[in-house]
Amino acid sequence: MNAPATNLVPAVLPPQYRQRNVHFINGQAVEPASGEWFDAINPSTGQAFAQIAEGSAADVDRAVAAARAAFEGPWSKFTPAQRQRVLLKLADLLEAEFADIALVDTMEMGRPITPSRMVGDIIVRALRHHAGLATTIHGYTPGNSSPVDLTALVMREPVGVVGVIMPWNGPIFCAAWKCGPALAAGCTVVIKPSEHGSLTPLRFAELCMEAGFPAGVVNVVTGHGEVGAAISAHPDIDKITFTGSSATGQKIIAAAAPTVKKVTMELGGKSPNIIFADANLDVAVPTAASAIFNNSGQVCSAGSRIYVERPIHDEFVARMREFAQGMVVGHSLDPATQIGPIVSARQFERVCSYLDLGPREGASVHLGGAPLTEGYMADGYYVAPTIFGQVQDGMRIAKEEIFGPVACVMPFDSFDEVIARANDTRFGLAGAVWTQDIGKAMRAVKAIKAGTLWVNHYHTMDPAVPFGGYKLSGVGREGGFEHIESYLQTKSVWIRNDI
Ligand code: NAD
Repeated sequence: MNAPATNLVPAVLPPQYRQRNVHFINGQAVEPASGEWFDAINPSTGQAFAQIAEGSAADVDRAVAAARAAFEGPWSKFTPAQRQRVLLKLADLLEAEFADIALVDTMEMGRPITPSRMVGDIIVRALRHHAGLATTIHGYTPGNSSPVDLTALVMREPVGVVGVIMPWNGPIFCAAWKCGPALAAGCTVVIKPSEHGSLTPLRFAELCMEAGFPAGVVNVVTGHGEVGAAISAHPDIDKITFTGSSATGQKIIAAAAPTVKKVTMELGGKSPNIIFADANLDVAVPTAASAIFNNSGQVCSAGSRIYVERPIHDEFVARMREFAQGMVVGHSLDPATQIGPIVSARQFERVCSYLDLGPREGASVHLGGAPLTEGYMADGYYVAPTIFGQVQDGMRIAKEEIFGPVACVMPFDSFDEVIARANDTRFGLAGAVWTQDIGKAMRAVKAIKAGTLWVNHYHTMDPAVPFGGYKLSGVGREGGFEHIESYLQTKSVWIRNDI
């Protein structure tokens, strides 16, 4: 169902946001060294609504110097309890103005306003969770078998200056999710937001100052890939945490290699969603549709390959089609909208190229299969939720990450067959299994090579639970104890006891 362009909150930036956005370095607004700017474009309308500083290596140098000075200086004097206190204050500030933050993310990257507002809960919880962990960091004193009488101490220290390179599909989410544990660990950060999601990360840095973080602890350099590349190769950055495409992740790992930076990589996916014949379809059908259509399919863990056991395949397709037809596609600021536009003209072209490719590869179209261009939609980047049938595993639509609202639904005949097909991918981010047989579910969970598996469910994340990928989907984990660990390094100290 397509929504009319009525019932909209006017797309005006809240007063604490600016039309012209500069970098945030050492606690101050800093003009770009390049003197250049680019437009923030609302994907619902195709209209520019703000300007953003075009960053360069010179800006990165300045931000890294500020982050290093803060790391060695005032931030190193903060006790764990003091770090905890400013993180808790930051969570309160974000919570208090989350309605505005949600609005700005929606204007810039197009996620519908209702789900945008709902992200606030997990962001604030994540910051409070990591604030809690700040006072739990500890080393240990292992026994040792040295012939000399020695005590060994194992100490944990913050890694140092962290480069945070982010995608556009969750600007404020990513800023809080990645920076919370880095700051709890005692690191300082240089954030490089996506060119399609810069405004709320800039506001995040301002709120950090208001919360009491010293200048230089949180810095933001906006811009395109060159800024990320300068961060990846910078000799004074100790660690990179990146979320984005696998192709960019590979470039960052290569650029980080000469300086042997630590890396955490949250990359792409092509996740299998397996529906066995005994699944509860009343829950499986709407959840499978949401798993691929939410955020217009621009979710790394989207359930894009749906395998359905043959006896229920046709019924499943009919019900999913009916459910998806009822989903409201439209302007992101309409509270009723469930599926908004694709983030940018470039991504829109890319998704449309896969809509063309599907039928050329031999797929049938159960639903959608085309851009939406009626009325106001002609100015934005709208794509109909699409369900492809007659899909073979070897087709590009079944193998490549489309990052759009495009599901491939495929029948299967046996457990072993579907597990082999689910694993026949270069990715390994996530997946789901639907069955009322717990033994079957656990056999599948153990056999699928992916970092997160949901059983009779999809898409929940929590700061206490690790998330990350096997294979091309990443390196390391965010969430869980692994997350704060990834911002710590270990120092061993030997003390002679007999002199
Ligand atoms: P992208 O890789 O195009 O860009 C991500 C960031 O990298 C941007 O800030 C971009 O400016 C920067 N960048 C571009 N070239 C660079 C270079 N050479 N060196 C350093 N930085 C560079 O990704 P995107 O299109 O913004 O996001 C979509 C992708 O992100 C999808 O593949 C999706 O699966 C993935 N993603 C993964 C997760 C996860 O947790 N695994 C979460 C969200 C998105």
